[in-house]
Amino acid sequence: MHKILTIGEILVEIVATERGDGFRQATPLIGPFPSGAPAIFIDQAGKLGQPCAIISRVGGDDFGTVNLERLKGDGVDISGIEVDPLATTGSAFVRYRPDGSRAFVFNIRDSACGKITLDSRATRLVSECGHIHVMGSSLYAPSVVDSILEAIRIVKAGAGTVSFDPNLRPEILESPGMREALLTVLAKTDVFLPSGEELFLFTEARTESEAVAELLATGVKAVVVKRGAEGASYFDASTSLTLPSFSVEEIDPTGAGDCFGATFVTFWLNGASPREALEFATASGARAVMHFGPMEGASTRTELEIFLTEQKA
Ligand code: ATP
Ligand code: MG
Repeated sequence: MHKILTIGEILVEIVATERGDGFRQATPLIGPFPSGAPAIFIDQAGKLGQPCAIISRVGGDDFGTVNLERLKGDGVDISGIEVDPLATTGSAFVRYRPDGSRAFVFNIRDSACGKITLDSRATRLVSECGHIHVMGSSLYAPSVVDSILEAIRIVKAGAGTVSFDPNLRPEILESPGMREALLTVLAKTDVFLPSGEELFLFTEARTESEAVAELLATGVKAVVVKRGAEGASYFDASTSLTLPSFSVEEIDPTGAGDCFGATFVTFWLNGASPREALEFATASGARAVMHFGPMEGASTRTELEIFLTEQKA
């Protein structure tokens, strides 16, 4: 079976329990929750029983341990996570504003995962993997970009495949070198997983069907568009398919896109039809929003099957 690899940030997330605008006054908090977009993605893949690994770094602190224990417990190969006793694990403080948008205080670039290099052990791990998933949010530092591009080269040289979720906030897009790095990854991408407007980040087209056609013409094999509570669509050269979202109570939307993506990619790699992969991914995204905390709503295959049976009843 193709082992899935991802490379990027591991963080804890600490969440304000009351809505409001940022962190300029004392406010009640809950956490630490294991987090980081690639970490959530790979945890979801692990929970599905898919062989998978992450290359990253954490500090020799409790925040690192929270992540290592969760990922290992959910079946992720954590041998590519370096523990640096002199560094601090990344963190993100998150507060939902009254309108549902999020205010963040990040500690990523200056944390343990601010620097990731492919040493000989990590390179061996990369060569065991038949697929690499890239999160746009992981292109936050030159050493991480270099590691991701080198890993893509190794995986592709072994006839492996690449998936890419731009997962971008506009403020990151404008950081130096970011657009070039994103374009380089897109040029190697087999499965592209934008959410909403991200579909148009790299196209001249302004309509959805033209943007999809443009991406497929550049060599992307499948485009999967995430639309939050509005559902999701799948496009390839011969298929176009849209599914609605399942009707659930949204407790916390963080992590839905990552769980959705990991479930889609896992099913796609294992030969599922586009409809089946999209249906399980949509179920995974829906279950993710029903749970508070970024990684707390990741699902096993059995949980997804039960959810789908209940929803269809
Ligand atoms: P994030 O980056 O914040 O994790 P995203 O923008 O990448 O999210 P979304 O479109 O928010 O991804 O969510 C991914 C998928 O999860 C959606 O396409 C949908 O199938 C499912 N989903 C998200 N929100 C809801 C919701 N409120 N109800 C049901 N399903 C949802
Ligand atoms: Mg996303």
